[in-house]
Amino acid sequence: MRSIAAGPAHLEAQRPDLEEYESFAVNLHSHARIPAHFSTEDNIDDRNEVKISGVIGSLHTNQPTAVFRICTGGKFINLDVQNLLPSLG
Ligand SMILES: [Zn+2]
Repeated sequence: MRSIAAGPAHLEAQRPDLEEYESFAVNLHSHARIPAHFSTEDNIDDRNEVKISGVIGSLHTNQPTAVFRICTGGKFINLDVQNLLPSLG
């Protein structure tokens, strides 16, 4: 995926062209040192999509954080995944 604009709290990327029968399944990105959460911008990006969306964060610690949700084209269903992450300490 090609980056169009990137900053400490923002990334705009060009998605690859998909065939008619293809769709995005998972959108995963990092908030680096910030604890994982869905930002206002994430909510806007995900609001009309059907996919699984995930954010990882706290990557500078021994206990990274993660949040995932199912996006259903207007509603979000949060998934409890934090206990799936191993402690790196
Ligand atoms: Zn985000």
